[in-house]
Amino acid sequence: MNILVINCGSSSLKFQLIESETGNVLGKGLCDRIGIDGSFISFVKGEGEKQKKEAVIKDHSDAIKLVIEALTDPANGVISSLKEIGAVGHRVVHGGEKFKAATLVDDEVIKAIEECNELAPLHNPANLIGVKACRELMGDVPMSVVFDTAFHQTMPEEAYLYGIPYEYYKKYKIRRYGFHGTSHDYVSHVCAEMMERKYEDLKIIVCHLGNGASVSAIDKGKCVDTSMGLTPLEGLIMGTRSGDLDPAILEFICNKEGLDISQVLNILNKKSGVFGLSEGFSSDFRDLEDGYNKNEENSIRAVNAFCYRVVKYIGAYVAAMNGVDAICFTAGIGENTAFVREKIVAHLGYLGVGLNAEANKERGKNILISTDDSKVKVFVIPTNEELEIAKQTLKLLK
Ligand code: ADP
Repeated sequence: MNILVINCGSSSLKFQLIESETGNVLGKGLCDRIGIDGSFISFVKGEGEKQKKEAVIKDHSDAIKLVIEALTDPANGVISSLKEIGAVGHRVVHGGEKFKAATLVDDEVIKAIEECNELAPLHNPANLIGVKACRELMGDVPMSVVFDTAFHQTMPEEAYLYGIPYEYYKKYKIRRYGFHGTSHDYVSHVCAEMMERKYEDLKIIVCHLGNGASVSAIDKGKCVDTSMGLTPLEGLIMGTRSGDLDPAILEFICNKEGLDISQVLNILNKKSGVFGLSEGFSSDFRDLEDGYNKNEENSIRAVNAFCYRVVKYIGAYVAAMNGVDAICFTAGIGENTAFVREKIVAHLGYLGVGLNAEANKERGKNILISTDDSKVKVFVIPTNEELEIAKQTLKLLK
């Protein structure tokens, strides 16, 4: 069955049409600058060249119309009519405590997602606009919503509660939710397949290291902890996000710099992380690797702090699970940046981890990068959130 996967942001809409049994991507693309001057759609058919077309896209309904047009275009499309789309899978960022798994969309589900909007005010409303526009234009095609938070809903109370008055949890549901769940889910399952072991028998740590980055601990098939919190700001040092810090720093910066809390939060989200640590040099590890190799102080400082934080989380999650069988690296940095993996793995000698330096140089495929005698297996597994959304959608329909 062909499943259209949609990831809708406030001014962009990414899409992929996936043949769900084989995982083949028939076509994929992006509608960008929705509601802004200079909007366009780009589309790639199979393994072909990217085609870009300027178009007026005043809202998300326009965007969906263009997506359908691109997919069914007689010359360049990949299907002949809408009938060849069996279902649509939508990415939704926050499912709060209500959604512990993907679900099929109906009016009640939409209402329940709206109730989670205050937990992700930048993302959820945009995700929902996509869901509503698709329902309007695609009639009876079944639709699912797949949440970034759902995979982490198995965390025990001791892992998701913050050490603040419990009434804030009761009144406002302030707790750890975690994000990137679709990626952690996908990668940990591929890891079990590669180990030829039952998922439920393993202790796995997944390091999703992209511009946004998070680590999760999966014990006997269930996520038991993850580094992002109520919002994606907590945990690792990221591209531009600070990750963990002493909350008292907020007031301190406010006073020193004459800023209010939302201005400081903006700095913690957009000007911090490796970008801030490198004094604004770059948030991109391609630049930082270059700087690191040229012995530039800014890059060395940022990279070292980034790797150290990952090492600390791995240690914490080994403790949380009382052991670990496999550690997986994924996402932009985890998949592409061999020297970062090498630096992190160099701290895992206490676990009996050995790195296969040759395998660590490989790119773009699922690969074991630990030595044969390593006590803990280390993998690089390219993430595929779209395929996971398609698979979960297919499962709901069966
Ligand atoms: P997100 O989805 O959170 O935007 P990605 O998983 O796409 O993030 O990761 C983006 C980051 O991955 C880039 O900012 C860069 O630091 C890193 N990255 C991507 N490609 C490469 C590469 N070829 N070499 C080194 N780092 C890379």
